[in-house]
Amino acid sequence: MPELPEVEVTRRSFADRIAGARILGVSLGKPLRWPLGIEPASLVGQGVLGVRRRGKYLLLELDCGLLLIHLGMSGSLLFAPVLPPRGTHDHFELVTTQGVLRLHDPRRFGAVVHASGLDDPVAAKLLGKLGVEPLEAGFDPTAFHRALRQRRAPIKQVLLAGDIVVGVGNIYASEALFLAGIRPTTRADRIGLPRATRLHAAIVDVLGRAVALGGSTLRDFSSAQGQQGYFQMEAMVYGREGQPCRLCGGAVKAIRQGQRSTFFCPHCQRP
Ligand SMILES: [Zn+2]
Repeated sequence: MPELPEVEVTRRSFADRIAGARILGVSLGKPLRWPLGIEPASLVGQGVLGVRRRGKYLLLELDCGLLLIHLGMSGSLLFAPVLPPRGTHDHFELVTTQGVLRLHDPRRFGAVVHASGLDDPVAAKLLGKLGVEPLEAGFDPTAFHRALRQRRAPIKQVLLAGDIVVGVGNIYASEALFLAGIRPTTRADRIGLPRATRLHAAIVDVLGRAVALGGSTLRDFSSAQGQQGYFQMEAMVYGREGQPCRLCGGAVKAIRQGQRSTFFCPHCQRP
């Protein structure tokens, strides 16, 4: 599943190239998770001003309103001057004066939704509950610690919920907790300021490195230029059950938390 770094890598891979383009045509394939919410024809002629990101949503800013794009479980975007004819799993396509933007989404959990602006109820519903952006200045260790003190759930699940800080998905939560030396099952409200500060730094470090490495290609992620990511090669614990911890040499453990796999080192990560 594409997480924040993959979405940011996708954004960077086409934002500059599509900015300033004009929409020439829109094609839809099979229904996605949510409907587009506007007549496709009314997008034709509009200019694309830029591409921003909020959480795992890409915001394609148009002359009138914006398109919110979510990659769902298996989606990827391609942007190229010309693309071969659409295949079975290509469910949204924007033909512009600067290239074709195409959403490839075999499982169709992704979506492209039009909103008149950020205060549009549709946008507010999708973006309104998102926590702070981890790679922006608003993510502050003291405020992070204060928010964690309100939660009794295990820290890993609190991170995944995304309402305190957005975009720390399954891989990156395991990795950040390892770097911070915190056991994933630790109750969030039991984490003191020094450990919360270490976790804050670890989240920034892990997500920043993942973006720099082009994200993680676990199944089929690639950027809008078709490039794979390499973060998974650097993982300290994720996907390494039974293998030696890269710090202490002990065996990495795997447990299930809320239907998801969690990887940690029992020696390096304290409850
Ligand atoms: Zn260890």
